[in-house]
Amino acid sequence: MDTKRRTLLASAIRLAALGALPVGVARAAAPTFTSDPFTLGVASGFPEPGAVVLWTRLAPEPLAPGGGMPAEAIAVDWELADDDRFRRPRRRGRVYATSDWAHSVHVEVTGLDPARDYWYRFRAGDAGSPVGRTRTSPAPDAANAALKVAVACCQHYESGHYAAYRAMLGDDLDLVVHVGDYIYENRGVARVRSHDATEAYTLDDYRWRYALYKSDPSLQAAHAALPWLLTPDDHEVDNDYAADRSEERDPPELFLARRAAAYQAYYEHLPLPRRMVPFGPYARYYTRRRLGTLADIHVLDGRQFRAAHACGMGRVAPCPDLFSAERSMLGAEQERWLEQSLGESSARWNLIAQQTVFANMDQMPGPDVGYWSDGWSGYPAARRRLTRFIAERRPANPVILSGDVHAFLVNDVHAEPGDAGSPIVAAELVTTSISSPAPAQSVLDTWKAENGNVHLARSDYRGYTRLTVSRDTLVADLVAVDDVRLADSRTHVLASFAVDAGRPGVVS
Ligand code: FE
Ligand code: CA
Repeated sequence: MDTKRRTLLASAIRLAALGALPVGVARAAAPTFTSDPFTLGVASGFPEPGAVVLWTRLAPEPLAPGGGMPAEAIAVDWELADDDRFRRPRRRGRVYATSDWAHSVHVEVTGLDPARDYWYRFRAGDAGSPVGRTRTSPAPDAANAALKVAVACCQHYESGHYAAYRAMLGDDLDLVVHVGDYIYENRGVARVRSHDATEAYTLDDYRWRYALYKSDPSLQAAHAALPWLLTPDDHEVDNDYAADRSEERDPPELFLARRAAAYQAYYEHLPLPRRMVPFGPYARYYTRRRLGTLADIHVLDGRQFRAAHACGMGRVAPCPDLFSAERSMLGAEQERWLEQSLGESSARWNLIAQQTVFANMDQMPGPDVGYWSDGWSGYPAARRRLTRFIAERRPANPVILSGDVHAFLVNDVHAEPGDAGSPIVAAELVTTSISSPAPAQSVLDTWKAENGNVHLARSDYRGYTRLTVSRDTLVADLVAVDDVRLADSRTHVLASFAVDAGRPGVVS
């Protein structure tokens, strides 16, 4: 044990003997830190009209086991104010960070005003955190006229820097929506940065991955400046997993133990509400947030409950199993929930944030068809249930926000996907990766050539999608990072598309 650790541990134990202990916490203390415990930054998420989740994690040595923390419960004081100098404090409190949750802190602050900025910070012992800013969502009946949202996904650490997150800081956003691949569990090619860890299986492995990724200053800055909504995809656990089936077809019981570890580390490192605490390998990630009367955002989980892939992995020729009505992407319960959520929405726009490409996407050059079995084209019956529901019940202005393929795609979604003669019922905006490597542009050119519902297919830039939502129009700017090898790369708008209220699909 080094001196630093001994100092921390000694003071932790010494102070524990003096202080009153909360129920259920064996030992609690306010230690003297000899190095900054807030190395992973601060974050906020899942805003509501009067509430938001605040997050941090104590980790003076983020890549060391336990983040360099002893197995003690540590008191963490939090404070939220109307202003960035904390002259007008609004809420404060104390929570206990424990080693069984990696000394992470999740505070659900309630009783706030809707649609306004707040500033927050944490203190543990003698150490203070950076100041974060967050923003509550508008009141449910607010006649709000504008909303700015960034959609992000796929931030493979070794493949590039997170200049996309730096660029978001200048966008005056209300919200960041992350649709998966926050980490990658496997080991990729180290194009720009490197690490020497092998594939993640254990809780400690996943914690290490998050600590590494979250060491990035641009990512920390985007978390500190903006509230986030998140939903995980496959790489938070294992490439292309489906429910209890791993990529390598491990025994399901063993894979579920791994999934439990991965879900726990996901919770520990992100500003998720307590209702998303995993119970073993199960977690309720799908949720909805109302953003005034302007938009509802329905956030889906396309991994945990999905049926096994049909006809093989990757690009497959359709086999009879592909079309089986029993096969679901969301699971029966989530499908019902989504229909209810869309059905009862009275918002002007219905944003559906989820993981994989939704629109019909023939990837095979020429008259034969080939579908990527991991996306919605691999679950056509489930997709048709949703498109028919939209066609019949007509929730207002659905726009599907997707990721996964590391390329920008702008698509129309038809009531009968694959039948260009059926009515268009929704638009889909697929965001490119923050940093993860892309397929060649020639591949995307094929997708565009084979599918008349595709307005744009570009894999040559990393970046994010910026949505400016108003009562009459939703404008999507495809923001491209000029050079992902540079942490401070400039960005440019590759293209912009609009969706007009009352007219499903992309304005062409
Ligand atoms: Fe990805
Ligand atoms: Ca074809």
